[in-house]
Amino acid sequence: MITVDSLTKRYGGFTAVDDVSFTARPGRVTGFLGPNGAGKSTTMRIMVGLTPATSGTAEVSGRRFADLPNPGLEVGVLLDASAQHAGRTGREILTIAQRTMGLPRHRVDEMLDRVSLTPTEAGRRVRNYSLGMRQRLGIATALLGEPEVLILDEPANGLDPAGIRWMRDLLRGYADQGGTVLLSSHLLHEIEVIADDLVVIGQGRIVAQGTKAELLASAGTLVRTRDVPALADALAAAGLTFSHLTDALRVEADPDVVGQVALGAGVALTELRAADGAGLEEMFLELTAETQREGVAA
Ligand code: ADP
Repeated sequence: MITVDSLTKRYGGFTAVDDVSFTARPGRVTGFLGPNGAGKSTTMRIMVGLTPATSGTAEVSGRRFADLPNPGLEVGVLLDASAQHAGRTGREILTIAQRTMGLPRHRVDEMLDRVSLTPTEAGRRVRNYSLGMRQRLGIATALLGEPEVLILDEPANGLDPAGIRWMRDLLRGYADQGGTVLLSSHLLHEIEVIADDLVVIGQGRIVAQGTKAELLASAGTLVRTRDVPALADALAAAGLTFSHLTDALRVEADPDVVGQVALGAGVALTELRAADGAGLEEMFLELTAETQREGVAA
């Protein structure tokens, strides 16, 4: 289990992580979601003792990372798959980690097999690896000590859809056996397929957290039409609240009400359904837009 309590990190006058609290539980895959620059990596770096916190605590299995006697046996970490020694082969990197942790040699081959790196690939230098292969190798290193907790920063980066599915199955199996997984992503849809629980962060602050089911729970109605202005007029005339998504409207009313309004106004609909997840998508788009605006201003 991972417990983060009132964690704050300031760089000079800038607050990168602002009073962040959440838990990642055993048997669950927890997605740490936020746009670039939201504070995900900083939070994870603090968890594994690479960056000191300004205040607050982060604990793995009830202890600070620095207090774990052989951390690799308790928590598997992958923060930056590109940071692996480019001149070493995948097998050499795993072997060094295996020796450092005092593990039997056969673990190296087991892990290569687990992440589907062939013996030929394992014999190549990491500088010749694709980002996806580096991610696989990084995950193999994280899993080597059979830890109960995994902390992975953007592990799906560089993976193709088949790779993302592979990772989902791997992490699912790991959590089903009682493991705790925390993984970050800046892509809602990527994390949506992998995570059971979500912690959403924007500009250093937690803006939502809960089970994926709760956060994706029905949030009104999603409706599409070729004549958006006519539908918008009809919804407004009926006193309904709605917002514009990329190519649809989300209405704070049930689908049958929205259907009746459209029928009354003679507007043909191309789609009408409960807006599962649209609320989260809107919130996330808003967060991303805010970050981009700040980026432009800076
Ligand atoms: P994320 O992982 O969500 O993309 P980060 O945790 O990397 O976000 O960064 C959060 C914010 O903290 C960013 O605005 C980043 O520029 C800033 N930041 C990160 N590390 C440092 C540092 N060492 N010094 C100053 N600012 C930093």
